[in-house]
Parts: sequence; structure tokens; C-alpha cells
Amino acid sequence: MSGRTPLVAANWKMHKTVGETEDFLDRFIGEIGDLEAVEIVICPPYTSLSAAVERCRRSPIRVAAQNMHEAEQGAYTGEVSAGMLLDIGVQGVVLGHSERRQYFNETDEALARKVAVALERGLEPILCVGESEAERDAGETEAVLRRQIEADLDGVAAEDLARVVIAYEPIWAIGTGRTATPEQAEEAIAFIRSQLAGIDAGAAEAVRILYGGSVKPGNAAELLGREQIDGALVGGASLDPADFLAICEAAKP
Ligand code: PEP
Repeated sequence: MSGRTPLVAANWKMHKTVGETEDFLDRFIGEIGDLEAVEIVICPPYTSLSAAVERCRRSPIRVAAQNMHEAEQGAYTGEVSAGMLLDIGVQGVVLGHSERRQYFNETDEALARKVAVALERGLEPILCVGESEAERDAGETEAVLRRQIEADLDGVAAEDLARVVIAYEPIWAIGTGRTATPEQAEEAIAFIRSQLAGIDAGAAEAVRILYGGSVKPGNAAELLGREQIDGALVGGASLDPADFLAICEAAKP
């Protein structure tokens, strides 16, 4: 037993209107029963955040955004700040998802600033890291993870480290139906934890490190049963309340 509380997060990406968000949460919250042992986070698009916060108010579910800008305000057309998320009751933020790195040129330098601002403002950062297929094939997985962890957590104080959630998401497994084996996921996560130990050994033991990449009801138990895997960041399968519930159930210690 690791002693870390499992965490399962739903990354809805650019899916679900306000009405669809409310329908999902009405069904999901009605079914969660005795899932206190698992922390659940829903990450809807910006337009559905307020509705999700409202629906989750009397439930243990937390709501997180899928991105934010590091500045508090300013001439950044199309962006949203930490203060704006906090203002509507959002409690966390996904940072550095590979889709943002790939399609929106999210850099490690910007991510380091975003992680710092999220921690300073009291938003729980869910920082995504992971290698591409070419990098894995070239034997560069550990080098990529080391570089991302070092750069993205640059400046995070040892006492703040335990408040960061990390999601190991091999890019080749995201939305492809191709899942990392439990051994591959556990090996990468253990490596990430060993890197965190360089910042603070105690905090490294407390940090939740999730796996993300084609997690489904059918493969969740074998992944989440692993000692090093503290939960999941779920894309496609989180859009359906029954599938997402099954994955949350599989995370029970
Ligand atoms: C994700 O978007 O973070 C993700 C893991 O997606 P999927 O579960 O669809 O692979």
C-alpha cells in the first residue's frame, strides 16, 4: 500500500456543451455511491466549468480547467487566468497536455511559470509529461521525462511539490486505443518518482502520479492495481458516465 489517495481525472477535451455537462454529472453523481476512497476530478471545456462547479457543489468531485495563462490579466486574447478560474470555483488545472504542447506550441518555459502560478494561487496542477513513439523507439523515454520534469517543475519549492499531480501520458497511447502495458507505465512512473526525489524525497513519495493513454473499463484494473500508479487521466472513456464510473471503481484501493 502506497498510502497515496488514488485520483481519477476526466479530460473532456473539446467535448460537451453545458447541457451535456449537466446530464453527465446528474447521471454520474447519482451513481458514485461509496467512492470516498478515490478522488475524482472533472475537466470540462471552459464554457462548461461554471455548470460543472454548480452541479458538483454537494459532491466530493472537484472541477479543473484544461489550461490557463500564467499572467493574472492583460492583453492575451483568448486566454484565461488562474484568478478567473478561482473566481468561478474551479480547484485545479491540467497543464502541459501533449495536445497543447503539439498543437499550441506550449513550451516547458511557459509551463514552469504556469505550474508556479497555479501553486501560488492554490489551484491543483495536473502536469502532463510523456514521450512520443519515436522517442520511445529511440530509447529516449527517460531522457524526455527527465527533461520535462526538470524544466516544468523548475523553481517549485520542496514544500509545494506534494501538491502537484503528475500524469504520465505516453503520446503514442493517447486517443489511439493503444495502451502502455502496466509494466511500461509503472516503470516510467517509478522513474518520474525517482526524479522528484532529487527535489525532495518525502514529497516524492506523496506526489500522485497518474497514468493516461487509452484507459478504459476493460484495462483500468490491471493498470490501477499497480503499486506505483496512483490513478488515471482519462480522455475518450471519460465522456460516458458508466465507463468513467467503472474506471473510478477500478481505482479503489
Ligand atoms: C488524455 O487526453 O489525456 C487521454 C489520456 O486520452 P485517452 O484516454 O482518450 O487516450
